[in-house]
Amino acid sequence: MEHPENSAEYAGLQVNSGVEQQSIVNPYLQRNRYKRRQLSVGDIVEGILKGDVTILSQAVTLVESVNPDHQKQAQEVIERLLPYSGNSIRIGISGVPGAGKSTSIDEFGMHVLKEKGGKLAVLAIDPSSERTKGSILGDKTRMEKLALHPDSFIRPSPSAGSLGGVARKTRETIILCEAAGYDKIFVETVGVGQSETACHSMVDFFLLIQVAGTGDELQGIKRGIMEISDGIVINKCDGDNVDRCHMAATNFRNALHFFPKPDSGWLPQVLCYSGFYGTGIKEIWDMIYSYIDFVKDNGYFDYRRNEQAKYWMYESINEHLRMNFYNNPLIQQQLEQAEKVVLAGQKTSFVAAQQLLDDYYQHLKK
Ligand code: GDP
Repeated sequence: MEHPENSAEYAGLQVNSGVEQQSIVNPYLQRNRYKRRQLSVGDIVEGILKGDVTILSQAVTLVESVNPDHQKQAQEVIERLLPYSGNSIRIGISGVPGAGKSTSIDEFGMHVLKEKGGKLAVLAIDPSSERTKGSILGDKTRMEKLALHPDSFIRPSPSAGSLGGVARKTRETIILCEAAGYDKIFVETVGVGQSETACHSMVDFFLLIQVAGTGDELQGIKRGIMEISDGIVINKCDGDNVDRCHMAATNFRNALHFFPKPDSGWLPQVLCYSGFYGTGIKEIWDMIYSYIDFVKDNGYFDYRRNEQAKYWMYESINEHLRMNFYNNPLIQQQLEQAEKVVLAGQKTSFVAAQQLLDDYYQHLKK
């Protein structure tokens, strides 16, 4: 009997067979689902060289993926595109949150596209995006005008991994964008922590955005950041803030005199502007283009790019070794215990580290 309740015991009760519960997944959907054709390395390379933005975006996603197969494919794509890259100017743009980076990048981008033509890619390095699970930098919605411009490509920061990993992905994305014909690359970064050093290591010109206000802005800014800046620009020079901005500019200029002359031979300049009202933008870009002419003439442009290429080779090795160590199953098992032992004061950090490394090398030999 199908339903036990229909037995004589339950007199007066008649249970009819019901209708089977429908699956919550629409079976037709599965069948008709749009299947994206898997692009081969050749397809991707060809698409990028033609300037196909959809394929470029897909390739950037491959670069950012942590899947080993995707990584392998991405590396092949990059290798094949490398000969077509390099033909651009790369500008790093840094500033603390609220300094006006997105407002400024929107204006800067519109200005260079109008004045110089060509194509612009806006990328970002934001290592904090892994923690916050979402990148703010390089977000399209923050750059309203550029987002609608047909010659701009905006890509938020890759969000996976350490700063080294995030920065490496941005650097690889630069190669893809250049091969796709983007001859101006902006790399946005937050002016806190280490990310501006990483940004500096992949750009031709590093622009630091500052705001004037309290009068002690020089104290809050790290010496290291000023030292790597090729230009310092003071934003929000509008309304009743103009005098303060000019004063801050004078302070920055004075402070810069105490720094050793940069290897480029170029003396960093300090300018005021307003990203919001679009004033002083032309002067900034005249400065950047005169810098580029200056360093192309004196050979520093190529020298800096070669040094960066070397730097990134070592960075890639470091990153690879690091990942290999931490992804090793044996090390993963032992790390937690090692941490406990160190915290309990039973071993010093150095001894614990040495033992982990010894075990790792032993494991590699097997
Ligand atoms: P980000 O966090 O560095 O990207 O800064 P945003 O571009 O989002 O700007 C932060 C705030 O400063 C926003 O409210 C902007 O409207 C404002 N802002 C940006 N540029 C200017 C400017 O040139 N003048 C004034 N008065 N406000 C500005």
